[in-house]
Amino acid sequence: MSAAASADYEMVVGLEVHVQLKTRTKAFCGCSADFGAPPNTNVCPVCLALPGALPVLNQHAVELAVGAALALDCKVNATSVFARKNYFYPDLPKGYQISQYDRPLAEKGWLTIGELDDGTPVRVGITRVHMEEDAGKSVHDRYAGATAIDLNRAGVPLIEIVSEPDMRSAADAGAYLRLLKQILSYSGVSDVSMEAGSLRVDANVSARIRGTTELGTKTEVKNMNSFSAVERALDAEFARQVALLESGGTVTQQTMLWDGAKGETRPARSKEESHDYRYFPEPDLPPLVLDMEWVARVGRAIPELPDARRKRMIEDYEISAADAELLTASAGMSEYFEAVARASLDPKAALNWVMGEVSAAVNAAGVPIDEFPVRPADLAELLRMVREEVVSHTAAKRVFARMVETGKPAAQVAAEEGLQKVGDDAALVGWIDEVLLENPAEAARYRSGETKLQGVLVGLVMKKSKGRADPRKVNQLLPERARA
Ligand SMILES: [Zn+2]
Repeated sequence: MSAAASADYEMVVGLEVHVQLKTRTKAFCGCSADFGAPPNTNVCPVCLALPGALPVLNQHAVELAVGAALALDCKVNATSVFARKNYFYPDLPKGYQISQYDRPLAEKGWLTIGELDDGTPVRVGITRVHMEEDAGKSVHDRYAGATAIDLNRAGVPLIEIVSEPDMRSAADAGAYLRLLKQILSYSGVSDVSMEAGSLRVDANVSARIRGTTELGTKTEVKNMNSFSAVERALDAEFARQVALLESGGTVTQQTMLWDGAKGETRPARSKEESHDYRYFPEPDLPPLVLDMEWVARVGRAIPELPDARRKRMIEDYEISAADAELLTASAGMSEYFEAVARASLDPKAALNWVMGEVSAAVNAAGVPIDEFPVRPADLAELLRMVREEVVSHTAAKRVFARMVETGKPAAQVAAEEGLQKVGDDAALVGWIDEVLLENPAEAARYRSGETKLQGVLVGLVMKKSKGRADPRKVNQLLPERARA
């Protein structure tokens, strides 16, 4: 596609995001909703769709779905209706999926994904949020020449969040997804992990001549396994459509699969293609009628969302907007920081440690922050020991590394590893004398008046003491030991 051609066209994107709700059990039965269990161990007559088994709605799933809808500024409907979405697919044992159709749980929300240069907010409308259940999973690599089916996911509770076609670039879509993920994570409704399949994205994309308002024919792009894949897939599909339109062709409405390795979209094989769904009301479930006072209570119980938290953290801890932005990228990290800042009474040190050592260690360990072995109270204790000069800053980093390995408290590690700061004259004199003996040339130059060598010699003493020597006292003692 030439640059000129792309400038004549505008990308129009709407996203459908499926999010797994953070419930212990499935949407319509008591089976565990955990990810990663051995195949077909979390199943029962209801989610296997054995004859006569009846679904019972999981109230916790409703509560989380309502919380998500309110966090996205949607209007929750007092009555919504479950529907059967009929289609045949091997991993769908019932032959239909329980979903919602013409009367969804919630509608008409929005997300503010940024602002224009003049400060006008950029909003993406949210058409609807509805509840549904997940299907099972076809496993193609388990048996040679045969497909296996794992039904552990069948019946896991999801919400589908459908946006308006309000995004105009891959970057807009990326911003929307990152913000959506952040809000769902903060509100505690989902783990929002793309790796574990708890957040999945389908994109509807079309191209139209810039300045026109009519929507072009759209395609649906599936099979994207990261936000950057979504952005690349949108650019590739838009380029394909524009090239087609430029050459006088027309876009066919169809399902496209993203091939990340080739960097291109290709039409889905017919069996992966979108189906002509038939919907009708689910006869085994009554309409979902919500007490609007209960809905309001769920709304009040939603934890602080990222935007509000950023503003408050800038005020409470006197940190920069940029630092607040980085810290609130994940709910867990900002909570961790706040806990350390409060317990240590030292927000500045807490910020340095959380952005530095803690982030690095958490990334290296590849664990979520709430499973990180050094708890906020333990880090706060270490910061107190630095402030009270029980350990030096250098030694504190060694203590921290051991705390990550062992999960032991700071004071215990410092004692066990002999990392407390040593201010005892006898010990310091011992180290200083050794350094002077081991470095006779430097010692001689220092004695003859080359005072700038003081720093070098103090550094050697610090190294010999493994960071434990109190540098202030070493500086005091060194001149007299050199003369001795
Ligand atoms: Zn079940």
